[in-house]
Amino acid sequence: MDLIIRNACTLQGSELRVVDIGIGGTTIAAISPALQADGGELDAEGRLVIPGMIETHIHLDKTCILDRCRIEEGTVAEAVRETAVAKRNFTSEDIYARGKRTLERCIEHGTMRMRTHVELDPGIGMIGFEAISQLARDHAWAIDVELCVFPQEGLTNNPGTEALLIEGLRRDARAIGAAPYFDSDPRGQIDRIFAIARDFDAEIDMHLDLAETIQGMQIEYVCRKTEEFGWGGRVAVGHATQMSLLPPDRFGAIAAQLASAGVAVTILPSTDLHLMGRSHDHAVPRGVVPAEPLRKAGVTCSISTNNVLNPFTPYGDGSLIRMANLYANVCHVSRPSDLAGCLDMITGAAARLMRLEDYGIAVGGPADLVCLDASNPTDAVATLAQPLWGLKRGRMSFTRSRPQLYPPGNQGRVDSLARSQISD
Ligand SMILES: [Zn+2]
Repeated sequence: MDLIIRNACTLQGSELRVVDIGIGGTTIAAISPALQADGGELDAEGRLVIPGMIETHIHLDKTCILDRCRIEEGTVAEAVRETAVAKRNFTSEDIYARGKRTLERCIEHGTMRMRTHVELDPGIGMIGFEAISQLARDHAWAIDVELCVFPQEGLTNNPGTEALLIEGLRRDARAIGAAPYFDSDPRGQIDRIFAIARDFDAEIDMHLDLAETIQGMQIEYVCRKTEEFGWGGRVAVGHATQMSLLPPDRFGAIAAQLASAGVAVTILPSTDLHLMGRSHDHAVPRGVVPAEPLRKAGVTCSISTNNVLNPFTPYGDGSLIRMANLYANVCHVSRPSDLAGCLDMITGAAARLMRLEDYGIAVGGPADLVCLDASNPTDAVATLAQPLWGLKRGRMSFTRSRPQLYPPGNQGRVDSLARSQISD
């Protein structure tokens, strides 16, 4: 073996087991308790080891632009308006540098797979697409990034946009997205996206139903289109904040429809908490759709970051564990199995949403492993467990030190070093 991870607590099916993981080259060669093999060793000390986290929905091209934008209203309309103005001055180098800042934060937090949305329209052309493609290639040693092309500023009302989406799919985009609520003809946009996806055999990942009332919801229409096109299992919708306003009967009916059509839902808690409820001056609705009833109905759900440090979300550190914890807190998730489910939504369920077939800790699979400072999935979400190290295809891709405490009577050289730094 090139490397043996000793005492890794891993989820095997639905059971937690402490095992050794033998790695040969870029793949997992053996998994067993007390593995008899020679090779370099890394002791996980019984901590939870997971197969790398998955960001199914993020925007690297418009990250880190708060210094160029104003947030007065905190509404979706303002976010799009402010970003569109900032976008006019985007250059390839600028997009690359900002995207790199956020991508590296994601890597440091244990994310190893990602779908990033990229805006295409006649204003920006292919500049963002090309910069993010290059960024993805340059970081392939740590993370697999796939591109999802989408029209943020409208499709049917924005001539020239469709040709750019098609150009993106002709290159290496694997998915096509949408934002029908910014189109003068929302259903017209949805229809075109399905037709283009069929032409290019592409995955669909739409922004959908991001609003503060239940008027004009498109989610049932997207389910019908998914069935009509036979695209079940290949369609995801992000936000769906309007669903969070529905009474249980209609919510349940849509959940059943999503499950039977094979439409997945991505929850974007940080953005939705920031943008929703702005028309209320008290008893503010939070706008985060609860995943637990969806999951129980058989809907694939993921939790994702969406935006980092821009008018859509003026926060962010690239930590998916933080998103899972934030979601759990906002949506009253407290049962241990449901908290563990929040970790599933940034790992296994996220892999199903993206149809990643080589995901998971299995013999023959890629040696993509992240060690969390936690003893089990419930604990990981509840305590915001920090990732301590990650291996991407068998190679160390990041490490993160655990904090040290120095109680009195246990002060050594390190302590005096710490004190000298504080007194400086
Ligand atoms: Zn988004």
